[in-house]
Amino acid sequence: MSAVIRVEGVAKAYGDVRAVDHVSLEVGANECLALLGPSGCGKTTLLRLMAGLETPDAGAISIGGADMTRTPPYGRPVNMMFQSYALFPHMSVADNVAFGLKQDRLAPAEIDARTREALAAVELEALGARKPHQLSGGQRQRVALARCIAKRPKALLLDEPMAALDKHLRERTQLELLALRRRLGISFVVVTHDQDEAMTMADRIAVMDKGRILQIDTPRKLYEHPVNQAVARFFGDINLWPNGRAVRPEHIALSCVSGDVEGVVTDIIYRGAGTTYLVRTQEMTVRVLRQNARGETEAHKGDTVFLSWPADAARTLSP
Ligand code: ATP
Repeated sequence: MSAVIRVEGVAKAYGDVRAVDHVSLEVGANECLALLGPSGCGKTTLLRLMAGLETPDAGAISIGGADMTRTPPYGRPVNMMFQSYALFPHMSVADNVAFGLKQDRLAPAEIDARTREALAAVELEALGARKPHQLSGGQRQRVALARCIAKRPKALLLDEPMAALDKHLRERTQLELLALRRRLGISFVVVTHDQDEAMTMADRIAVMDKGRILQIDTPRKLYEHPVNQAVARFFGDINLWPNGRAVRPEHIALSCVSGDVEGVVTDIIYRGAGTTYLVRTQEMTVRVLRQNARGETEAHKGDTVFLSWPADAARTLSP
């Protein structure tokens, strides 16, 4: 994998808080990497370090093969899109997109061509004359994106890019961003605390906690082979027994007749495509997820049920 961004042993502290604690990672060409983790785990700080908005206390950052550890933001071939899109309210959509290009003193014809191209990429060609307040939240987000793309960066750094969008628009925008990335051949680094978003968008996900990367892998590997309990808990639901044995809820079969572990159904959460059963067993309450397919056992609150799972569904995880 040829790395577009290489982060090596980077650390950043604010007083006693180790916001980023000796992190190393690579972002590949045309790759989308998501930084996922609970609030305060250091995702945004890591992104800002890549953008040059923060200077690391230790370590090195190279972009496109060149060392940029001390290079200011405007000297880096990356662009960061912020949570608040920070569009200029008095400028038209097209002028917002052209702004950075004018600052870079590109030729007017080049500015014009790139502005058109960027607006076309986000399907806003028709709205170039509008002002930001005449757009929907999703459209404003696309203008901000066009503004980043117009500068033709090697990588786009996105901080919670969907935060302002409702669920429906969010999913559509996630897919649009993916298609755009493939068309433009730009690498993405996306900060999110939403695991669905990370799974939808990212080729690989770095799960962070307390300034460190716990695991960096494809969504499938993270889900099926988490390195420890913290990753397993953060990434999807999991049943964790006191001895470290871990089984995902969808791997547990539920029968009213026979099985390995006996329990009583204490709660049932209907989720449309599936149903979650909470089953109190002697050791602990076990979460079971069954598809609502025809022929599936339907248990009721208070029923005695039997749980079983294949041996290879159980893994032992360290804390
Ligand atoms: P969130 O999802 O809530 O945005 P995050 O994972 O992006 O969180 P960061 O914003 O990177 O987390 O913050 C990491 C830690 O560093 C937090 O404890 C935060 O309070 C602290 N921190 C971040 N920026 C500063 C700052 N400028 N001064 C002091 N402390 C800071």
